[in-house]
Parts: sequence; C-alpha cells; structure tokens
Amino acid sequence: MYFHQTPWLLKRWHPHFLWSQPTREPLIHLTFDDGPIPEVTEWVLKTLSAWQAKATFFCVGDNVRKYPALFGEVIAHGHRVGNHTFHHLNGWRTNLADYLANVERCRQAMGLPPGKPLLFRPPYGRMTRSQACWLRQFYRIVMWDVLTGDFDPNLSPDQCLRNALRYTQGGSIVVFHDSLKARQNLQYALPRYLEHFSRAGYYFEAI
Ligand SMILES: [Zn+2]
Repeated sequence: MYFHQTPWLLKRWHPHFLWSQPTREPLIHLTFDDGPIPEVTEWVLKTLSAWQAKATFFCVGDNVRKYPALFGEVIAHGHRVGNHTFHHLNGWRTNLADYLANVERCRQAMGLPPGKPLLFRPPYGRMTRSQACWLRQFYRIVMWDVLTGDFDPNLSPDQCLRNALRYTQGGSIVVFHDSLKARQNLQYALPRYLEHFSRAGYYFEAI
C-alpha cells in the first residue's frame, strides 16, 4: 500500500527529511528513480528537453556501473543526480553497516566527491532511524509529496496521470521512475503532465 499524496503526519514525524519546497512560484521538482537504463532514461531525457525541464535523477549505483555513458548524459543535460544505494536496498531489511557501505559504493560509482552536500533518497522510502541519522551527516535526504504510482501494474496510465495532476502544488517533489516496470505508465503520463503544467505557466527545476 502507498499514498499518492504524502500524509502530513508522516512529514511531521520526519521534519529533517525534504518532502517538498513550498513556494508561491509556479515551480515543480520532478524526480526519476532507479535508472539509468537504456531506452527509458534516454526517452525521459528527450521528453524533458522538449519542455526545457530540469529534474533530479536518483540513480541505482549498479545501473551507473553498467551504463556509465548514459549516466554521463543525464549530467550533460543539466540534470542533478542523487544516490539511491548501489543495489536498491530496503533499509528495513538491511543492517546499518551494510546499508552505509552500499550507499558509499553508489557514491563511488557515480564519481561524486565526498564532503559536498549530496542528495540521497532511500529505496521504497524505507530507512531505520540509525541509517537516517548517519546519512544525514553527509546527505540531504529527499522524500516526496507526490507519488505518481507509475510503477504500479494495477494503475492505468490515465489514473497515474490524474493522480499526478491532482496532487501537485507549487514546490512539489514528484516521483516518477525511469524503469522498465514503470515504462508504460511513464510514457503516457509524463508528456501530458509536462504539457499540462507548462501551459499553466509552471517550470521544472532540479532540487
Ligand atoms: Zn527506487
């Protein structure tokens, strides 16, 4: 089970995570998780370019290792990248040492310098308190306020689009996935979403 719109209670419970950046500006932060992978990530880059949209990609380290040129393209397009662990680990099922080592392995695969403020998003949004405490020293932990559900095979492409349109506000952080699982919903919803908000005067920036 998951929420398309993040409940306020959850946000209040974890005030040190970034859930959205409320603003009166017509500004949206799109995020893409789980890539980079051939075809899907390439398609996302092309689609974002068509609307001059910038986004943030939370990459899986193992995909960066497999497709380094594609990872380079994401950066070359002016998007921001964040850490999403090397093996897409579920924090609730992983001990602290293994989790931190996996995050570090992802950082190295991405070639990002330590010490600079980096972005991290936990796979499944799941982290233990101690994992979060450690990572907060080195990373800004980015969650979301709008989950499109593009990964959900029980959700039709049109439902996915309608949820995304309905819950987005100025400063929203919106989750899509550049993954094979999400591909069908993504390829329907993303261009229509970009068109809808661009026509309404919104612009899209990396976090
Ligand atoms: Zn993920």
